[in-house]
Amino acid sequence: QVRTRFAPSPTGFIHLGNIRSALYPWAFARANQGVFILRIEDTDLERSSQAAVDVILEGMKWLGLDPDEGPYYQMQRMDRYKAVIAQMLEQGLAYRCYMSPAELDALRERQMAARQKPRYDGTWRPEPGKTLPPVPEGVQPVIRFKNPLGGAVVWDDKVKGRISISNDELDDLVIARPDGTPTYNFCVVVDDIDMAITHVIRGDDHVNNTPRQINIFRALGKEPPVYAHLPTVLNEQGEKMSKRNGAKPVTQYRDEGYLPDAMVNYLARLGWSHGDDEIFSREQFLQWFDLDHLGKSAGQFDEAKLRWVNAQHLKMTEDVRLAPLVREQLARLGLQAGDDATLARMCGLFKDRCSTTVELAQWLAMYFAPVQPGAEDQAAHITEAVKPALRTLRDKLATVAWEKVAIQQAIKESIGAHGLKMPQLAIPVRVLVCGRAQTPSIDAVLELFDRQTVIDRLQA
Ligand code: GLU
Repeated sequence: QVRTRFAPSPTGFIHLGNIRSALYPWAFARANQGVFILRIEDTDLERSSQAAVDVILEGMKWLGLDPDEGPYYQMQRMDRYKAVIAQMLEQGLAYRCYMSPAELDALRERQMAARQKPRYDGTWRPEPGKTLPPVPEGVQPVIRFKNPLGGAVVWDDKVKGRISISNDELDDLVIARPDGTPTYNFCVVVDDIDMAITHVIRGDDHVNNTPRQINIFRALGKEPPVYAHLPTVLNEQGEKMSKRNGAKPVTQYRDEGYLPDAMVNYLARLGWSHGDDEIFSREQFLQWFDLDHLGKSAGQFDEAKLRWVNAQHLKMTEDVRLAPLVREQLARLGLQAGDDATLARMCGLFKDRCSTTVELAQWLAMYFAPVQPGAEDQAAHITEAVKPALRTLRDKLATVAWEKVAIQQAIKESIGAHGLKMPQLAIPVRVLVCGRAQTPSIDAVLELFDRQTVIDRLQA
């Protein structure tokens, strides 16, 4: 059974580049009837925060990336890591190293002076027949992993192809600090083993950790999972996306009126492709997703493209599903929308003109709050010549049946009575009732107002 995980560090507000690393393992698990696991890597106590965890959980929930297991928290698994370290010491897979920081610095300096790559020299590494230095008093040792000597670590990365790293490049990794706390690369391996992860899909900033992790897997008698290291996501300036250079938390896109399905569509395409398909539903994505079509080059974020994708999804989304989202956006504008059915009809009438639910709410605001027609529009369209026709229309609207066809008829009769053409009356009506000169078909727009509001606005 396929088991994947998303393992964010809650050290900052999760942005689009990060959450893409959740989307793919989620999709891969779903596409293969597998299990998707959320693991919060919160061991960096200084930089981790509950607020950052909340954005991760909220963002995943918003996008519908529901984990089947978890969240697990690494801080709650400390005993387990320590138990594995104790076991590794016992089995001779790891050893205590008493080299002090000062000695390590001196070693590094000697190596640099000799133009060698700085690396631990194995002083405390036990070998058959080797006598170790006497244990100094009062020094708390670190624990080091006994990395294999010679040979190479080789894996077939699903994105990068075959990678081979010589073991000579890897020194004996510190797996526990002097105070006994386990280190990052070690915890990841214990977790991936305990959680029976079959496919690790993560950012390629971790590709250098992979050979070390694979060696620990094998030392513990386990075969490593399949790895897929995703290229970075760049921002619009072509820099690696990060909160330091202005990346927004994912939840902000919800607030800005993006639809979860559009976001999933956009992020999916930012590093994976299915032929030339640009717009697809969540279901299609899950049907199509595979690791073989992950892109090899960095994806670049493009807000205009995201808006376009969102506009397509607004059109595809049923009006009744848009209504609650637009209701929320209206509430943010301080406006209270009426019943769901009417709100859904309003969404249907205006959604083709909008890219986001925020824009949709801005359009619909005229139904729930007074409008202020601009002075220019008033001067241009509310002329003396048209006022008699507006009065006629106002009187007719007071009595007609309140539905599109009857409203249309009232407008036609008012035009006829005063010898005007359709736009000569329709535009002034728009300016007065909607506060703008252009809208969809005026009868359809008016029908969704209540009668008295229309009459009052014409009256004004
Ligand atoms: N916690 C790591 C990160 O945020 C991910 C580790 C992993 O996926 O193995 O970047």
